[in-house]
Amino acid sequence: MKNRSLTLFATGLVLLALAGMQRAVAGEGQALEQEALSLLTQYLRIDTTNPPGNEIRAAEFFKAIFDREGIESQIFESAPGRGNIYARIKGDGSKKAVVLMSHMDVVPVDRRHWSVDPFSAVIKDDYLWGRGALDVKGMGIVELMAMLALKRQGVPLKADIVFLGTADEEAGGAMGAGYMVREHFDLVRDAGLVLNEFGFISVGDDGKARYYGASPAEKAPFWLKLTATGTPGHGSSPRPDSAVLKLVEALHRIAAYQTALSVDPVVQKFYADIADLDPVPAKRERLKNLRESLKDPAFAAEFTKDLRNNATVRNTISITMLEGSNKVNVIPAEASAQLDVRLLPTQDPALFLNDLRQVINDDAIRIEIVLSFAPIASPTDTGFFKVLEGIAGEIDPGVKVTTPLLTGFTDCHFFREKGIPCYGFIPFRLPAKELGGVHGNDERVSLENVKFGTHTMAEIVRRLATQ
Ligand SMILES: [Zn+2]
Repeated sequence: MKNRSLTLFATGLVLLALAGMQRAVAGEGQALEQEALSLLTQYLRIDTTNPPGNEIRAAEFFKAIFDREGIESQIFESAPGRGNIYARIKGDGSKKAVVLMSHMDVVPVDRRHWSVDPFSAVIKDDYLWGRGALDVKGMGIVELMAMLALKRQGVPLKADIVFLGTADEEAGGAMGAGYMVREHFDLVRDAGLVLNEFGFISVGDDGKARYYGASPAEKAPFWLKLTATGTPGHGSSPRPDSAVLKLVEALHRIAAYQTALSVDPVVQKFYADIADLDPVPAKRERLKNLRESLKDPAFAAEFTKDLRNNATVRNTISITMLEGSNKVNVIPAEASAQLDVRLLPTQDPALFLNDLRQVINDDAIRIEIVLSFAPIASPTDTGFFKVLEGIAGEIDPGVKVTTPLLTGFTDCHFFREKGIPCYGFIPFRLPAKELGGVHGNDERVSLENVKFGTHTMAEIVRRLATQ
């Protein structure tokens, strides 16, 4: 009896101690959540609208935090006011560095359409409101918190963890990630991967996860300028060989041109992974092998009616800028147009250009390349996907981690061009209706997402840096 009560007593002590530990861990977790919310509030109040950017203010905000935490960091100014922040904590070097990247600039706001001040970071209806909440200051803060948590806990790391806050992403990144990779590549040369924006956890209206989207690839911009020349003259005497007419005819042929359908591996995987979510049973089967299914013209027509679908299975051309005469009664010597071309990650820009020349079929039209990024996809059989699959399965058993193709572009290409894998994944659970604020009005992030994102990102980074 005596022994038994002693055992009970001891067991009770152990249980008490365990409960205490759990409370302590839970308490630490809650403190981290509160800190994340408070830091994101401060960060959203820093106006980094690009143009002009003024990211230096955000870089100084991060620098102060890193200084306080005893983390080595440095600000790099690519031009006056255009700050980038770089910080690193050390591992034992047995794994390549994990780079946590996010841009610090935001797109302009149209205050007339906001129901709150876009830079006041108010909390309303369980959301934190402000420009950049989703794109992408929220991500910046959960990345920061992951780094701080690992540093404070003294977790032994195999990989260094690098924090990189960049300027200028919303205007192409030349002053930000582009500048860092061009001028300070030594700082990130040892990177095994870069984590960046775009992909997220897609949830239904019921809050259940549909899939975890981690983007390994983006369409590559291949912006072109077409210029026609012709005999100038007075508008009262029309000429059949005018520059404007030549240009219009070329554009007419381009507008009628349908680029070939092509299903990249990441796109094939994405639709196969989400097939079972489609409400129409017949369509589910089709999506499971999109490459095959698109050979059926009827299905292809139906599928590509959705503009997002369409942009993920072909190179696209948008005619966006036009310039002719600046006077109504003057036939100009020159007329030009710019095309926003986006290439799939497996395409060759030179081949596309040849095809386009044939479509235009007029050697008198000059074609200049305005912007061209190499189309590249990062591999999907990497440790990052294994880690994310593990975590996704623990949080949402049975959920798929899949590979959405971004039809726009982010800072990732600067790293992919250097052979460093870059993945877009923001650990926020987002129903479609919450995405409208990105580059739109009333951008906001739920308090729940800030908390969830803080823990999930910390766990992702912990596993990437320790396993
Ligand atoms: Zn962004």
